[in-house]
Amino acid sequence: MARVHIIGSGLAGLASAVELAQAGRDVSIYEMAGQAGGRCRSFFDETLGRTIDNGNHLLMSANHGVRDYLRSIGSHGRFWSPREAAYPFFDLETQERWTLNIDKGAFPRWIFKPGSRVAGTRPWHYLSGIRLPFAGAERTVDECLNRAGPLYRRFWEPLTVAALNTHPSEATAKLLWRVMAETFAKGGAGCVPMVAREGLGPALINPAIATLEKLGVKIHFGTRLRDVKFSSAEKNRGGKGRATALVFSDDTGIGTINLAADDNIVLAIPPVPAAGILPGLIAPTQSRAIVNAHFRVARPLTSKDEVEFLGLIGGDADWLFMRDDIVSVTVSAADVIANWSSKTIEQALWRDTAFALGLDEQDLVAARIIKEKRATFAQTPEQTARRPGPVTNWSNIVLAGDWTNTGLPASIEGTIRSAIAASRALPM
Ligand SMILES: Cc1cc2nc3c(=O)[nH]c(=O)nc-3n(C[C@H](O)[C@H](O)[C@H](O)COP(=O)(O)OP(=O)(O)OC[C@H]3O[C@@H](n4cnc5c(N)ncnc54)[C@H](O)[C@@H]3O)c2cc1C
Repeated sequence: MARVHIIGSGLAGLASAVELAQAGRDVSIYEMAGQAGGRCRSFFDETLGRTIDNGNHLLMSANHGVRDYLRSIGSHGRFWSPREAAYPFFDLETQERWTLNIDKGAFPRWIFKPGSRVAGTRPWHYLSGIRLPFAGAERTVDECLNRAGPLYRRFWEPLTVAALNTHPSEATAKLLWRVMAETFAKGGAGCVPMVAREGLGPALINPAIATLEKLGVKIHFGTRLRDVKFSSAEKNRGGKGRATALVFSDDTGIGTINLAADDNIVLAIPPVPAAGILPGLIAPTQSRAIVNAHFRVARPLTSKDEVEFLGLIGGDADWLFMRDDIVSVTVSAADVIANWSSKTIEQALWRDTAFALGLDEQDLVAARIIKEKRATFAQTPEQTARRPGPVTNWSNIVLAGDWTNTGLPASIEGTIRSAIAASRALPM
């Protein structure tokens, strides 16, 4: 039977593999790292003595691609959600606290309720987003918003940075609107936060590996694709060239795989290595960082089964996620902070954390800083225009990954949808 060779076992590679193997295709996966998950992974950290994620990942109930994926790997029960679409915030400068509480219907009644909307705002302030749906592909978020007033600092700026990992002064307005249209425009039903209860590995990665094992799919770890050999366009269907061989780095033992006439490839690796392997591929070239600090504290902050989170305004930290005795702090669009030393980051983020949660120096048991310098591509208009679709110039290669042109930001939802689009674009 024709085989599908999937390169990369991040979420894009795993979701393609599950989709294809469940449809009866013969699938193999090749992953350069020693574990699956890529930018979405859990691991045991010796310093903390706890299993942690590389970084906090927040999903929303409107993410239907993710929900389908969770069903396909039998993992829908592994997420924690509050009962309502409620997002608590704390302003470190003014010490105000509020909860953004998006009620159920599509009509945004919450805007008219002082206890549900952003503190210090008035209903008419929300009209500042009226130009977003009409933004052209070349517009940034800031070009479509009124930056005066508290709504920008307490809503638009943190929302853009969290959703696009890019500051609103350079972030693509169209991508932000797509997020709004798929979540806020659906009301509270689409905005309920979802957080992996025991972490990303147990929720999104390990159940996929178990599902694939049952379907006979092997993941070859420590196997880096180094090169692809091609045949010329004239000899092949549709006037396109095709890949004839996959060349892996020497130390894996796999060496070169010569492809049969009906073999196909899903290239599910990040844009820079993909462009290094596929001649002429136009893909994003710039990225933005996310920094996470994980603090183990002296006493549990939540019950075992629960996760709590808090948005911060006016400090270095953006979001705190509390799970048992670990507080994980996220800073997105963090290219400046990522260049600080780990000690400096620890001190700055602990200061914000301790202040927001009423902790002091004695509460800090251990800290771990994780810098993901290429967390996502830079979601600017210029880089967004470089996103390719799943189909390539080669008849038997398709692309999957959060950087491909899904119309969504680089996110788990975008990744899963890219994987489904890539799988369906493969010749049968
Ligand atoms: C800190 C952080 C926080 C985030 N927070 C959120 C969030 O809150 N919500 C959200 O929706 N998204 C979030 N994201 C984004 C999300 O994690 C990504 O969109 C998603 O994981 C991308 O998956 P992928 O499979 O496209 O890429 P990757 O995870 O990068 O997977 C690519 C895989 O390919 C492998 N590989 C690379 N080159 C080769 C090669 N030559 N040969 C073989 N294998 C190779 C890599 O080792 C990797 O395993 C966050 C990302 C980070 C880093």
